[in-house]
Amino acid sequence: MHYISTRGGMAPQNFCDILVGGLAPDGGLVVPDEYPQIDRSTLAGWRSLTYPELAFEIVSRFATDIPIADVKRLVEAAYTEQAFGSKAITPLSELEEGLHLLHLSNGPTLAFKDIAMQLLGQLFEYVLEKRGEAVNIVGATSGDTGSAAEYAMRGKRGVNVFMLSPHGRMSPFQRAQMFSLQDANIHNVAIEGTFDDCQDIVKAINNDAAFKQKYKVSAVNSINWGRIVAQVVYYFHAYLHAAKQIGDEVDFVVPSGNFGNICAGHIARQMGLPVGKLVVATNENDVLDEFFKTGRYTIRGAKDTHATSSPSMDISKASNLERFVFDLIDRDSKALAKLWKEVDSTGGFDLGKTPFFARMVGEFGFSSGKSTHADRIATIRTAKAKWNVVLDPHTADGVKVALEARRPGVPMVTLETALPAKFEGIILEALNTVPPRPAHLSNLESLPQRSEVLPNNAEAVKRFVVDALN
Ligand SMILES: *Cc1c(COP(=O)(O)O)cnc(C)c1O
Repeated sequence: MHYISTRGGMAPQNFCDILVGGLAPDGGLVVPDEYPQIDRSTLAGWRSLTYPELAFEIVSRFATDIPIADVKRLVEAAYTEQAFGSKAITPLSELEEGLHLLHLSNGPTLAFKDIAMQLLGQLFEYVLEKRGEAVNIVGATSGDTGSAAEYAMRGKRGVNVFMLSPHGRMSPFQRAQMFSLQDANIHNVAIEGTFDDCQDIVKAINNDAAFKQKYKVSAVNSINWGRIVAQVVYYFHAYLHAAKQIGDEVDFVVPSGNFGNICAGHIARQMGLPVGKLVVATNENDVLDEFFKTGRYTIRGAKDTHATSSPSMDISKASNLERFVFDLIDRDSKALAKLWKEVDSTGGFDLGKTPFFARMVGEFGFSSGKSTHADRIATIRTAKAKWNVVLDPHTADGVKVALEARRPGVPMVTLETALPAKFEGIILEALNTVPPRPAHLSNLESLPQRSEVLPNNAEAVKRFVVDALN
């Protein structure tokens, strides 16, 4: 398997070549030249596999330049009962007939990002050691990517992490989780701006080819292809547990911001997994809901990005959408590059009047819904009263949309993206009690914290990186 850029300006490369890079050199996103196809009998044969066995089947189809015995060892090291709290790794529960929750948040940092990041930590260490190389990861986080990356990379040889987060916008728990790490290879940088500003700085640093090369800049934010591959696995896992018969449709609702999680669902569907609908759930920052309802993609600036009670989705520029649109427009990289030029010059594009708009919904199965603070509170209360489950606010956005979008006779799976313990404030508001928290995290906020506040400025971040490395 080879990897290309959505914008057409990268010679085909192997998995290990693109794993530790960020954006493609032409500013596009890295995608495989084709999606491996999984036929029904293969799928049926996967029903009895454990999570690591299933991960091995899927990851080995994308990482074709890693010897399969090594892939096996790496997925086994990543997906342990010890790290994820159960043998199932991503257990599926049924709230009521046909309404499922896929539990993705039992890893070290209590959010779905751990699933991808734990594997990425193993893959990075493996590839870097083989090549005798080192990298400096410069990433942006709205809260959960950062901690997941830091917990996956802490103490790993050959890796430094510089994680940018929006100053004052994370929950106290999220901040404590990241800033309390004392490992010498972990650097927390709080940027005076929004998540989108942080992401723009990461892009600017990656676009500075000389800096990128000199300081071996790498990325683990949601544009990293390795993360997408790891996420494809749990769509298969959920399908195999939710479908009565192989071939039956299963629908998914995914709480979304950067389109990373649901992008993996799109790829699973392209690989032949019988996914019916892929439903995007947004919060008040509804750029993606607007796109799937109208075909208009209009990014928003910092002042139009609301700070909400599902903060990990406070994103108004969905980087991974480029991967989906690439497939939507029949992988025409010239047309794709033109669309993203339009994003840079006019702030968006409109597919509403093109034939592609109908295909998003028809052929590709996408739809969307939106949830507000009031919806979130109501859904958290309903879930507690009806099913005795405490939902985190992002998952609540998903369940709100799932209840509207579900179809009779079709299993509907909502992806749980975090545990409520990460977002005490809104749980207290909705249920009048503090959410349960894993015992080992009981005194998290009182641990000493380490971070650097920097202005919203790529040059300042570059100076910080250079100083830290000297
Ligand atoms: C990252 C995150 C999301 C959004 O996921 P995307 O892949 O960016 O769409 C939703 N919920 C939680 C809790 C997250 O951490």
